[in-house]
Amino acid sequence: MRAGPSQEDIRRHNLGALLRHVHLGGPISRAELTAKMGLNRSTIMALTSDLTAAGLVREELPRETGRAGRPSLVVRPESSRVYVFAFDVGPDRLAAARVGLGGAILDRRETARRRGPFDLDELAGTLAGFARQMRRKTRPDTVCVGAAAAVSGGVRKDDGVIMFGPNLGAESVPFGEELGRRLGLGLPVSVGNDANLAALAEHSRGVAVGVRDLIYLHGDVGIGGGIITGGHLLGGHDGYGGEVGHMVVNPGGQPCGCGSRGCLEAEVGERALLEAAGRVAARGDTRANALSHDGDGAGRQGRDAVRAVVDAADRGDIVAQEALKRVGGWLGLGVANLVNIFNPEMVIFGGMLREVYLGSAAQVRSRLATNAMGPQRERLRLRTSALADDATLVGAAELAFAHVLADPLEVLARVTG
Ligand SMILES: [Zn+2]
Repeated sequence: MRAGPSQEDIRRHNLGALLRHVHLGGPISRAELTAKMGLNRSTIMALTSDLTAAGLVREELPRETGRAGRPSLVVRPESSRVYVFAFDVGPDRLAAARVGLGGAILDRRETARRRGPFDLDELAGTLAGFARQMRRKTRPDTVCVGAAAAVSGGVRKDDGVIMFGPNLGAESVPFGEELGRRLGLGLPVSVGNDANLAALAEHSRGVAVGVRDLIYLHGDVGIGGGIITGGHLLGGHDGYGGEVGHMVVNPGGQPCGCGSRGCLEAEVGERALLEAAGRVAARGDTRANALSHDGDGAGRQGRDAVRAVVDAADRGDIVAQEALKRVGGWLGLGVANLVNIFNPEMVIFGGMLREVYLGSAAQVRSRLATNAMGPQRERLRLRTSALADDATLVGAAELAFAHVLADPLEVLARVTG
């Protein structure tokens, strides 16, 4: 015997790697797997047999090869049999999805969330109820292999406690533990920051597949960020890294919820845009306060209100155009700082920043031209999120699948045993 990893370690690693190819890339022939993984045909055959026996993949003859000779079997994920639950807790919505191996959203539930304090009991109850509804509709042979949630806040790595989430009204909330208890599946619930998970989702299934250095900016009430460098998410020492929303872009500017002034979030977030467009009361302006309470109650805040400003600007509304210009300028300055520091290949605008960027791309680019350094700027690509409102849910699903891909057979034995 030679020193190094054991045969069992190698087998576990290879099973995970093969399953990852099938999970992320979809159906793939044994011949392609042989080429991609650099293993011989008999090893690939043994690995696919193990995964097939575990019910994680199945093998089929391809429909038409157009070539003579014996066709290579195609390996497919057992998408309708093996699934995870993914949850998203944002300032304005609660969402749950059943996501099959291979990444397809098989079923989903969503409800609006009223902004205000974090009611753990109600929130976990609602999400667990969604999961129960979806589970009742599944066939008896399906198996849930994991659960994870994306939340708008800072999450402690080890135990899924939301340490800070001002836009959710959450502080030191044991969310993962409570949701796991409510689900009653005997599975832990992993919890991650929504912008971090959305960045991973765009990286694995969205606009940034194959991009190793990217920055994803997520806007809702606040601005969150996910930074992937060299193919890895930048977590920081405690896992709270990437909070780009509190980078100061305008010293002495708008007051921010964090206690500082002129943070990216304070100058570019939903409130900044709606204030600049005259659609909510300016901070400290009590006279105009009635504005936010006078109307139909709908469209005064949230994604619809942001879209309404962008639509109005498109139709030629000067106030809306000026508001977008102002916000776009600060956004461009924030992006310029990030580009100078991290030299990403791509910057992705997600959440409500999707709309804001589409309405202010000229200002963002102009700021970049002025404030980002040439070499970092030249090959930079600015993109909107491809997964749009699903980015956080897709990211949560990938988090839930992560341990399955790390050790496919152990996980399956545990959840079915
Ligand atoms: Zn701040």
